Amino acid sequence: RAKEEGRNTFCYFSAEINTATLGELLLENDLFGALERAELLMYYQPKVDAADGRIVGAEALMRWRHRERGMISPEQFIPLAEENGLINAFGEWAIRTVCAQQRAWLDAGLLVVPVAINVSAQQFAQQDLPNMVAHVLAEYGLPPQLIELELTESLLMRNSARAAAVLQTLRRMHVQVAIDDFGTGYSSLSYLRQFPVQSLKIDRSFVSQIGEHGESVRLASAIIAMAHELDLSVIAEGVENEIQARYLVEHGCDQFQGYLYGRPQPVDEFGALLAGRQLDHAA
Ligand code: C2E
Ligand code: MG
Ligand code: MG
Ligand code: MG
Repeated sequence: RAKEEGRNTFCYFSAEINTATLGELLLENDLFGALERAELLMYYQPKVDAADGRIVGAEALMRWRHRERGMISPEQFIPLAEENGLINAFGEWAIRTVCAQQRAWLDAGLLVVPVAINVSAQQFAQQDLPNMVAHVLAEYGLPPQLIELELTESLLMRNSARAAAVLQTLRRMHVQVAIDDFGTGYSSLSYLRQFPVQSLKIDRSFVSQIGEHGESVRLASAIIAMAHELDLSVIAEGVENEIQARYLVEHGCDQFQGYLYGRPQPVDEFGALLAGRQLDHAA
């Protein structure tokens, strides 16, 4: 009897594990056709000036619209794409899609803002990023100032020698680079001196604790102060309420990105936002 129960328990657990694995395998299998079936989309989230709340930029965030499962988060499929090598095609698609969109907005006479594109660690390791970016910019006749690249702190730490060289090339091309998810990789700011970047994004995990835990609050303000010493501009990610915004602006944060100012939104909605910005300027 006990033996039987033990076996049942074992079967129960192994069935559950198999289901999870199967689900992931099926998802991964579908991922291979996602580009061809045009299931990848870009959403755009505004970045605003901390002083006056005006839109000064945007971040392009990838979405996968699965035909049965609906919208799938990049947190789910980017790691899969990194494992199976699809990330190179996805990464190129991201840069091309943003450049094509900026071109279209320019041609429509809109007051565009620079749009940031995320670059994954695998993609960075495998691709000639400056070369690819240069080609795409040339293809769309787009000024390099209209795009920005976001590289995570951990990516820079893992590939520091090569990263420094690649960043030099990007700087010569006038393509701006931001360090994403800063504070999660435990690197010192002086270590970051070797990387020619223009801005730093404080990770959401620090911002979300403002108003709750004293220590993270002090960390956020220390990051801002030290970043300014290095002449970097500072963006806070994941700003969700006025308490966080007030604290950050008091400590000199330059830009905000978060639900308080706007969610990542479909391309047409962001285009409408840009059009509204034009009316503000005309008024
Ligand atoms: P990330 O680059 O740090 O992007 C910021 C994430 O924070 C986005 O999640 C955004 O929707 C979310 N966020 C922004 N404001 C708030 C807020 O106020 N509250 C909360 N709770 N969240 C907020 P998302 O879109 O799910 O993307 C997750 C991650 O997936 C990104 O983190 C980035 O690492 C990766 N990712 C997204 N798009 C791409 C892409 O095109 N290429 C690559 N390689 N990675 C991407
Ligand atoms: Mg990012
Ligand atoms: Mg980030
Ligand atoms: Mg993040």
